Amino acid sequence: VKKVIIVGAGLAGSEAAWQAAKLGAEVTLYEMRPEKSTPAHKTAGFAELVCSNSLRGAGLENAVGVLKEEMRRLGSIIMEAADATKVPAGGALAVDRHGFSDYVTKKVTEHPQITVVHKELDAIPLADDAITVVASGPLTAGKLAEDIAARTGNDSLYFYDAAAPIVSIDSVDMSKAYRASRYGKGEAAYINCPMTKEEYEAFWTELVNAEKAPTKDFEKEKFFEGCMPVEVMASRGKDTLLYGPLKPVGLEHPETGVRPYAVVQLRQDNASATLYNIVGFQTHLKWPEQRRVFGMIPGLEHAEFLRYGVMHRNTFLNSPQHMQATLQLRGEDTLLFAGQMTGVEGYIESASSGLIAGVNAARLAMGKAPLVFPAESCHGALCHYITTSEAKHFQPMNVNFGILPEIDMRNENGKYIKDKKLKKQRLAERALAAIESFKAKIGE
Ligand code: FAD
Repeated sequence: VKKVIIVGAGLAGSEAAWQAAKLGAEVTLYEMRPEKSTPAHKTAGFAELVCSNSLRGAGLENAVGVLKEEMRRLGSIIMEAADATKVPAGGALAVDRHGFSDYVTKKVTEHPQITVVHKELDAIPLADDAITVVASGPLTAGKLAEDIAARTGNDSLYFYDAAAPIVSIDSVDMSKAYRASRYGKGEAAYINCPMTKEEYEAFWTELVNAEKAPTKDFEKEKFFEGCMPVEVMASRGKDTLLYGPLKPVGLEHPETGVRPYAVVQLRQDNASATLYNIVGFQTHLKWPEQRRVFGMIPGLEHAEFLRYGVMHRNTFLNSPQHMQATLQLRGEDTLLFAGQMTGVEGYIESASSGLIAGVNAARLAMGKAPLVFPAESCHGALCHYITTSEAKHFQPMNVNFGILPEIDMRNENGKYIKDKKLKKQRLAERALAAIESFKAKIGE
């Protein structure tokens, strides 16, 4: 029996450690924080959420909701923590970021099969008597990044990610802002800052002309559409934001019934509802510029910024070239990768790939064959996607129904039923059924 070594106690590494330990493996989990941190992490806690506190859609009509449900059924520690620390967020699952991280840290640290070592690793820790999982995240830097690049042919890629600012609730002018969820769904979870046409146009002009922080450290600017800086989105056209984060549809003022020209939404960021993040406002503006330009938003004139928006690099492997669907590196069966590094995108996607890597690392450690998760499940579909996409244009991917195999949409007479809602429902049911019947194989 071999031991399991995991690098990084982020979303993926914490889940991987938990799963491997649950299957009986002896796990050593290396984490460099607090001695050394990344440009985005602020705490010493495991599974720290570095940007938004939302784990996205809660319902099964979203693929990310199905992925979360699959994880619950597979005994995920990340989902256990999320469900235990959730905060109101309409149709999404958002968490108290500190409560969430504390929960994971405590459970993982106290697990008798897991030894936590706080140390920065300069190279991938390989040993004859160990199976290794690298889950050092999108901000992996320095010698470890060089070692990974050397082992994978020096073609790790880079692009930018951005984090939205957080303001204190006390500093929001509630005589201008109002609480509501889009289309009145669920409780009125968001604070909405309404803009008139004149206010929006003045704001847009300042936003596109504001001073940005220099980006000279990086060879090339590559934005991922899902986390595009608000000023970049704005620069695509005067109305672009009105169809994106500032969309006013369904956000009529609860007292007057009037729909504003544009709405900036604030989302609760902690359990005690003292912190709110500006939804979709990931940004690369200089900090004083953030205060000036975002201070033009009605209700945020005197906002106290508890965290400014920032931008960082994102490192990921060319997985179609290097990875197997079991998350083993091609040609090196005792080395697995997990998390954002593998080219999955998002907190939950990262954690789910940690779940797979943890299961397979434990199985390999016990001399068993690693498992390919079923293609019909969101877990399996993500692995399939990252290992079979076209290598030349490979970009990280959020889970979505489009990566699942086609489903038969004919009725009993063989006639095609065109019903998007029903299709999603069938895909979700098939995915969960696939996980249910696969589950038993994990421990066999
Ligand atoms: P991480 O959670 O970053 O975990 C990696 C861990 O490895 C860290 O704890 C780190 O300290 C440790 N580590 C790194 N190097 C070493 C070393 N050499 N030795 C020992 N330990 C090491 N996703 C979303 O869904 N929503 C968002 O809003 C969002 N915003 C993001 C904002 C930014 C700025 C970035 C960079 C990413 C964002 N992501 C977001 C993407 C992604 O979901 C997160 O980065 C997520 O944390 C990835 O999980 P992970 O486990 O792969 O990496």
